[in-house]
Amino acid sequence: MVTIPSSIGPNNVGIVGGGLAGMATAFQLIKKKPSINVTIIDKALPGTGGASSVAGGLLHPLTPRGKIAAFGIQGVDSSKTLIETASEFEKGVVLRDEIYRVAVNNKHRSVLKAAASSHPQFCEWLEANELEWDTSSSSVLGALRIHGSGCKVIHVPSYLNGLWLACESRGTGDRVWALEEDCADWKERLSEFDAVVLSAGAGMFQDAVVKQELPVQLVRGQSIELHLRNRQFEQVRLCGKYATPLPDKGKVNIGATQEFKDEPLDCASVKDELQMRSYDFLSDLWDDGDVHKVTEGFRVQSDRGPRGRLPIIGSFDSELHDNAWIFTGLSSRGLLYHSLFGDMLTDMMFDSDENYQLVDAESLNWWVMN
Ligand SMILES: Cc1cc2nc3c(=O)[nH]c(=O)nc-3n(C[C@H](O)[C@H](O)[C@H](O)COP(=O)(O)OP(=O)(O)OC[C@H]3O[C@@H](n4cnc5c(N)ncnc54)[C@H](O)[C@@H]3O)c2cc1C
Repeated sequence: MVTIPSSIGPNNVGIVGGGLAGMATAFQLIKKKPSINVTIIDKALPGTGGASSVAGGLLHPLTPRGKIAAFGIQGVDSSKTLIETASEFEKGVVLRDEIYRVAVNNKHRSVLKAAASSHPQFCEWLEANELEWDTSSSSVLGALRIHGSGCKVIHVPSYLNGLWLACESRGTGDRVWALEEDCADWKERLSEFDAVVLSAGAGMFQDAVVKQELPVQLVRGQSIELHLRNRQFEQVRLCGKYATPLPDKGKVNIGATQEFKDEPLDCASVKDELQMRSYDFLSDLWDDGDVHKVTEGFRVQSDRGPRGRLPIIGSFDSELHDNAWIFTGLSSRGLLYHSLFGDMLTDMMFDSDENYQLVDAESLNWWVMN
């Protein structure tokens, strides 16, 4: 890793939004150029805003059909350093290092068994009677156990706080987290920086920080926190919906990232909807749990391209700043893509390199790797 001297690229960067995209960008900028000054401008404290604060925390490279997602292996590898570094500064970042992708019908079963044969280095097929929880009263036929270095379950709020503490402690420049509830004049606010990165997730569009149309949609996700009366929950189960343990093992987060609802559902309806669609593999939890709260977040979903829904990174022709960059559209793979695409974006900021191919989407200069 070559350290970039102060004569190359920006020295004072403002990042609007400190979710997974913004924090990965800050981390990669500081790693490459320790002398850089980074200010995160966010309306919430580290780990408490946007989609990142409510994410299920699942990190693995597989699609629901058991294939490797585009850039999946690189994404997992790239995230490792950030997770390890955040864990040095914050407790409880990694909740688990295995995920069970559950089969509740024969189609699931054959797809997941094929995935186990194709990727034996990080997954294995287990029949229902080999699973570590009692499946006798459910429709579970078995599960793909994704494990090892290809898989982590992250407590994202702790992770983002850990990353922020790591950024603060590293390098020689200033690090500032500047809370900005409601910025009336972004142009003036950002004028002190020599480059800005727009990475405020859905808030960027809802609060009109970015006024241009981009090839994205905002997708509402709702999840619930279930408190168990008589047991602790250890495994992470996924089958369209997911159940992940919270740091307190008597609490479970059950959710989905695939809700396309315009209006938010109330607490009872979120519970009914999630329960109806996940009872076949989570009956033991639903039967023992009380709903405590509903959490909600909008994720920014990029349009599907030839290699699926990839994040949008690149320079951005913005009225807000002459040297503006954008990082958005992490879709439902925020953890898989934040570090890798943050790495690519920061490479571009220091040197618009020929390893990247420019794709013009009107005012957006959008790079993909060759
Ligand atoms: C319910 C749910 C579950 C999910 N589960 C997973 C999962 O298990 N695994 C996975 O990889 N991905 C998951 N995702 C997707 C993941 O959460 C997103 O891809 C990722 O968090 C997007 O990160 P971001 O930094 O682009 O945006 P965000 O996380 O939304 O961050 C935006 C930041 O900008 C700030 N902000 C917004 N507006 C303004 C403004 N006007 N001024 C200043 N600051 C502002 C916000 O406070 C926030 O901190 C899930 C998403 C949802 C909704």
